[in-house]
Amino acid sequence: MTIKAYGAHAGNQPLESMDITRRTPGEHDIQIDIAYCGVCHSDLHQVRSEWGGTHYPCVPGHEIVGRVSAVGGQVSRFQTGDLVGVGCIVDSCRHCDECEEGLENYCDHMVGTYNGQTADAPGHTLGGYSQQIVVDQRYVLRIRHPEAQLAAVAPLLCAGITTYSPLRHWKVGPGQKVGVVGIGGLGHMGIKLAHAMGAHVVAFTTSESKREAAKALGAHEVVISRNEDDMAAHAKSFDFILNTVAAPHNLDAFFALLKRDGTMTLVGAPATPHPSPQVFNLIMKRRSLAGSLIGGIPETQEMLDFCAEHGIVADIEMIRADEINVAYERMLKGDVKYRFVIDNASLTAAHSS
Ligand code: NAP
Ligand code: ZN
Ligand code: ZN
Repeated sequence: MTIKAYGAHAGNQPLESMDITRRTPGEHDIQIDIAYCGVCHSDLHQVRSEWGGTHYPCVPGHEIVGRVSAVGGQVSRFQTGDLVGVGCIVDSCRHCDECEEGLENYCDHMVGTYNGQTADAPGHTLGGYSQQIVVDQRYVLRIRHPEAQLAAVAPLLCAGITTYSPLRHWKVGPGQKVGVVGIGGLGHMGIKLAHAMGAHVVAFTTSESKREAAKALGAHEVVISRNEDDMAAHAKSFDFILNTVAAPHNLDAFFALLKRDGTMTLVGAPATPHPSPQVFNLIMKRRSLAGSLIGGIPETQEMLDFCAEHGIVADIEMIRADEINVAYERMLKGDVKYRFVIDNASLTAAHSS
């Protein structure tokens, strides 16, 4: 089936309207009419080949929500009309230790929702800046939020799980002081989730304009990370810091804020390396530096259900597909509170105008 999408033909070209094809649903497949798709900073890194290895045409988008429009003969978990989501993963090997444990995100053969290897044309997966997607039911999530919140649920499929998973893994909860660095798409979800888990949450931002806004998200305190005195006031006080920054920066400024045995986990994936941390900053207080990649399918469902139960959604700014290039430039300037979401109904209009 041929459908409308928005993507790029090369890393140095803007995204534009294009036609792509989707496979006819197989026995285990779900066909989804995409209602909304969030805009992740990874979309920008990938479409511009900042990490290298991007295949073109590249259609980004892995924060996908919509309605089931067809199911294969062996599909038991979903039916036509269900509200569903698709995140960053559309396939994996299904039998390695990671897949068996529901940690498909760490499977060596994980297939990303875009730029992953597939038998479908054109040989790599194409993401959610498109009218429809066809995905094996194993990788489809159920959405239990009210339909009116659907657009604001979309960013949970990447920004939500990428922050939820490390907060759970490092057992964030009541009595702990937790920092969230970088208040963008991921960071604003990190604040909401850490708050809901009962932690004392401190937001670190480079943007003075986000000070009050970060409190409204649930931060108990806000620190402008460029202000050395403000930073020093929090020395050796954090149990855990979640760092979502999309650019290389001085990690040592944050290590100094960790208590003995504290951990800073990086989820931000800059195109060029951070300056190396000072080893003494780690060894003197037995501090840890860690990383975390999205989350597995069962944990993504757990996160969606947790958010539905606690009334948590993303703060979004809705855009038409043909506004995506401007949205990328604004995202680079930190000028979005806090996630752009594409109204996929605009894909038809963008093409016919
Ligand atoms: P985003 O919305 O652009 O937010 C990033 C935030 O980082 C900005 O809002 C800004 O916050 C801060 N920042 C940006 N440039 C900075 C600089 N030069 N110095 C200090 N702070 C800076 O991006 P996002 O969608 O949240 O994604 C963040 C990163 O996570 C990206 O690299 C993305 O690829 C990566 N990511 C990783 C995973 C994973 O599984 N590990 C999943 C999704 C995304 P302030 O204005 O508050 O300072
Ligand atoms: Zn993402
Ligand atoms: Zn596997």
